[in-house]
Amino acid sequence: MDTMIASLRPLADGTMPSPGTPYAIALQQFEQAADLIGLDQGMRDFLRHPRRELTVNFPVAMDDGSLHMYTGIRVHHSTIRGPSKGGIRFHPSVDLNEVRALAMWMTWKCAVVNIPYGGAKGGVIVDPDLLSERELCALTRRYTAEMALLFGPESDIPAPDVNTNPQVMAWIMDTYSMTKGYSVPAVVTGKPLAVGGSEGRLEATGRGVVYTIREALRAQGKSIADVTVAVQGFGNVGSVAARLLAEQGAKVVAVSDVSGGVTNPQGLDIDDLRAYWRENGQRVSGYRQGDAISNADLLALPVDVLVLAALENQLRGDNADRVRARIIAEGANGPTTPEADIILADKGIVTIPDVLCNAGGVTVSYFEWVQGLQAHFWSEDEVNHQLERIMTSAYQTVMDEARRSNVNTRMAAQALAIRRVADATRLRGIFP
Ligand code: NAD
Repeated sequence: MDTMIASLRPLADGTMPSPGTPYAIALQQFEQAADLIGLDQGMRDFLRHPRRELTVNFPVAMDDGSLHMYTGIRVHHSTIRGPSKGGIRFHPSVDLNEVRALAMWMTWKCAVVNIPYGGAKGGVIVDPDLLSERELCALTRRYTAEMALLFGPESDIPAPDVNTNPQVMAWIMDTYSMTKGYSVPAVVTGKPLAVGGSEGRLEATGRGVVYTIREALRAQGKSIADVTVAVQGFGNVGSVAARLLAEQGAKVVAVSDVSGGVTNPQGLDIDDLRAYWRENGQRVSGYRQGDAISNADLLALPVDVLVLAALENQLRGDNADRVRARIIAEGANGPTTPEADIILADKGIVTIPDVLCNAGGVTVSYFEWVQGLQAHFWSEDEVNHQLERIMTSAYQTVMDEARRSNVNTRMAAQALAIRRVADATRLRGIFP
């Protein structure tokens, strides 16, 4: 069971994702976990389908006076356990199937940490590096206006993802509020503090990643201060995870981003690297206090912990064999394919699966939403304390499930999540 790769069936509308793509992988993982918990055919069919999808094509007036058309997507995979929740990605490779995969993983993630949300995701096909600040603002506002029929504090609450940040969230909050005539801070999370953001949200995903690494090391009788780490991706998730790990005594020997990587066996000074990154157009390549390393070679470094915090499909059947880390922490969504999972398990490598490892972001987004609805704000200590409590407890619940069912951690997390969503569906019943 644990080593089988499930075969795919088309969705009701005939969708059949290409093998190896994130959506094919998300569906394969789902089928495998559904087999594990003996999910009946009707429930299985219901849960593998996205609930609703909206694709919009919209114009943006560019600085040079021209009009440019963009495509934006939002997918709600599930609204069974509450409003749908999920980030918005601005990236040239966004497509409907990728967003479907990410939305499905959001459903499982919210269920793993047991917060009252379903899963969603959104994106715009765009390279934001090519836009001015004004163009980026116009694109965000128009996308939000087009999606206003889905967004809402009780229905669908977006958040940051790749290439979107607190400023983009503030524009979303403002645009949605303009359609209502009053401020609606709880419509989006990951906002700046000045417009109803939460203390600790910016760091929450990276901090959550570090809590799960701490727990995985504890199970091996080690602590963060004992280990070497490599981090792929130096954005919101990767840079925070790298800094917190270094602060707690880990030796971060390599980091990389889309521009390439840097390595230093003595350990990188993450604060200094971050300052360089800021001055160097948000790129780590060319940093002098280390040697250049490619992304491919970073993945194969002999470190204790490898943090994946970039994009999907980084460890695959063709490169997983090169991995020499003992623990893989999936800060990114979907960084490991099912073929790679099998290879890594054979090598005895422990994977902290995405739906658990990076759930700190949505957990503090939930705290931000609760604070916004109550107009009552918590201290950073309170946020971090509650985050630690939820992440540690979810980690233990997933590991207990893995032991009880004798499956790998990804299957355990997904089985736990699918069971929770299926139970909620049965309790609600099928309308009408
Ligand atoms: P980000 O845009 O802040 O950073 C992405 C980083 O990945 C950048 O350093 C970029 O240069 C790098 N990158 C992009 N393509 C790469 C490539 N081909 N090889 C190596 N590096 C590459 O995004 P983020 O918010 O840090 O998100 C990173 C991952 O974490 C994504 O998978 C995202 O879905 C996931 N995630 C983010 C959050 C969040 O709160 N931001 C929460 C959960 C999961």
